[in-house]
Amino acid sequence: MEKILIADDVPANIKMLGEMLRGQYEILVATNGEKAVKLACQCSPDLVLMDVMMPEMDGFTACGLLKSAQETSGIPVIFITASNEEDDIVKGFTSGGVDYITKPFNPTELHARIKTHLEIKNSRESLKQYSRTLETVNNELNEKNALLAKALEQITRMASTDHLTGLWNRIHMMEKCREEEVRFKRKKRPFCFAMCDIDHFKKFNDTYGHECGDHVLRSISAILKQSVREQDVASRWGGEEFLLLLSESGVEGAQAVAGRIRQQIAGSALSYNNVYLSVTMTIGVAAYDQEDGIAGSIRNADLALYEGKNGGRDRIAVYKKAP
Ligand code: GH3
Ligand code: MG
Ligand code: MG
Repeated sequence: MEKILIADDVPANIKMLGEMLRGQYEILVATNGEKAVKLACQCSPDLVLMDVMMPEMDGFTACGLLKSAQETSGIPVIFITASNEEDDIVKGFTSGGVDYITKPFNPTELHARIKTHLEIKNSRESLKQYSRTLETVNNELNEKNALLAKALEQITRMASTDHLTGLWNRIHMMEKCREEEVRFKRKKRPFCFAMCDIDHFKKFNDTYGHECGDHVLRSISAILKQSVREQDVASRWGGEEFLLLLSESGVEGAQAVAGRIRQQIAGSALSYNNVYLSVTMTIGVAAYDQEDGIAGSIRNADLALYEGKNGGRDRIAVYKKAP
């Protein structure tokens, strides 16, 4: 049952109001403003019927105190008074009252107004509760979204990298090739491919085991990664084959990059289980050719690579288009 606090200093008024409301509401009673505030803090009534003129503390002051305390600020206060002075009515509303009923009043009207203000209060509380729930759900969603974004980032990275070497994989390389081709069409900036293949790689597997082969692949990949610029792409193309996409670079520039990589690998003191490993690499370089397209240009780099292998390995070969 909803609770109504009646604050009035005249026992006859309290009795009359009490009789009107009994049965429908639980009734609390206070005989001045101070007692009304105290009782409201203790019992949290759903509504207060407040007389204006009371000894010690009047209704306006009591209402102001109720509105300024967080626990009681949501309790609707209806003033019931004999005064119908306009000033008093305004004061009633400015002190935080929701309604102002002048005596003598019609009991049906009193019931209707109480019912309306209780409904407004309940709706406001439901809205507050709903908003709190929404906030909680929103916070949970934000947390889940952050987790999802992180997982998605991880999945995207995994989908485009080679797990053994950490280099980009073939899928990512092809995507970058298409982007570079679009840029080429717009800006006519040349770019090149360098197909790199470790010489006699099989012997590392055969002599020292597959683990040793993997170690060589990882070591060579680290060299490739740090030898290219940020705008270039170093990928693992196949088993011991790596394809580099050298962005905004002519064939001379690509040849120079390939030459430095070859030198660095030949001079690297790789070892496995304290055994020195002599690793060399052959690289085939080809400029992107619009007529041949991406696939054709990569094939050209591959042709150059095989020319390098046939020429004795540990060297750079540049693709030259037949006249
Ligand atoms: P060439 O100088 O003509 O390139 O000779 P090669 O031995 O390097 O080339 P070949 O194609 O004969 O052998 C490549 C070997 O690489 C065969 C394959 O078992 C091995 N391989 C491919 N992928 C991996 C890998 O992920 N790890 C290891 N350890 N070996 C691999
Ligand atoms: Mg090889
Ligand atoms: Mg090979």
